[in-house]
Amino acid sequence: MTLVATPLAFLRGEFVPLAEARINVMTHAFNYGTAVFEGVRGNWNDDERQLYLFRVREHVERLRQSAKIMRMELHYSDDEVVSFIEQLAEQSGYEEDVYIRPIVYKSSEVIGVRLHDLEDDFLLYIAPFGAYLDPDAGARCVTSSWRRVDDTSIPARAKVNGLYVNNAMAKTEAQLSGFDEAILLNPDGHVSEGSGENIVIIRNGKLITPGPQDNILEGITLDTVLQMAQEDLGLEVQVRTIDRTELYIASEVFMTGTAAHVTPVTEVDRVAVGDGQPGPITKQLQSRYFNAITGRMPQYADWLTPVYAKAPVGA
Ligand code: PMP
Repeated sequence: MTLVATPLAFLRGEFVPLAEARINVMTHAFNYGTAVFEGVRGNWNDDERQLYLFRVREHVERLRQSAKIMRMELHYSDDEVVSFIEQLAEQSGYEEDVYIRPIVYKSSEVIGVRLHDLEDDFLLYIAPFGAYLDPDAGARCVTSSWRRVDDTSIPARAKVNGLYVNNAMAKTEAQLSGFDEAILLNPDGHVSEGSGENIVIIRNGKLITPGPQDNILEGITLDTVLQMAQEDLGLEVQVRTIDRTELYIASEVFMTGTAAHVTPVTEVDRVAVGDGQPGPITKQLQSRYFNAITGRMPQYADWLTPVYAKAPVGA
């Protein structure tokens, strides 16, 4: 029997219907972007009729780090936040892929640009969320004329809500120019990442990806896929600065992210990547990743939280 989904939010310490979860127009975070956020996916396995949350704890840890950088207090323990996320997912009752958004935000209703002497609060909401980029056809990308923010302006390793204006500029420029996704260079002119994804290139069978010094968000999907590449497929991984023109000559390029999963990049600046089709290593990693996040690979059960009682992982 299909449950009727009733999306909930967690606001001011209570679960409430999403439609009733409102904040005041004077809220500091709304006026100045002074909030930090996460995106956690629940991935639906229709065979088991189970929803699996992916690496919730790592997302909560990154949320706390983002909050610390922004001088914010997350008033709940990691265990409490994980439990709120699980309860939100279970009580909302979705039987499809979902996205859960935790936010720590400056909740004071005052005027004045600053981070100190303000109240902080925490909220959650859930929404159904399918594919963000096309995982089969892949993404046609363009190098953005907008540069990725630097740690000396807005720290890129923190998921600061206001920072995402930078990403939105790049995404819109790319899409209005007929591409699927933007690739941002850092202020030095080296490859940083997509508007909501990390980027990996493959040269001579080796995976190469930019490191934190190139202003990336330190991605959880990236960590997952690099681990699979090294441990399962025995591939070499190199973390180093990447030039724009390496995107053109790489045999494969792909993007990783909670929203985008593992998405092949088939074209950069109208130059075909390889033969312009998703590459074999990308497809292999993509398939392992999809199996892992939907509970079909028992060795990755530790990364998953089943939401509904009680299908064993990998059963
Ligand atoms: N870069 C940016 C700018 C992002 O917003 C995201 C999505 N959170 C990523 C990279 C990928 O990170 P993750 O795999 O942890 O979702």
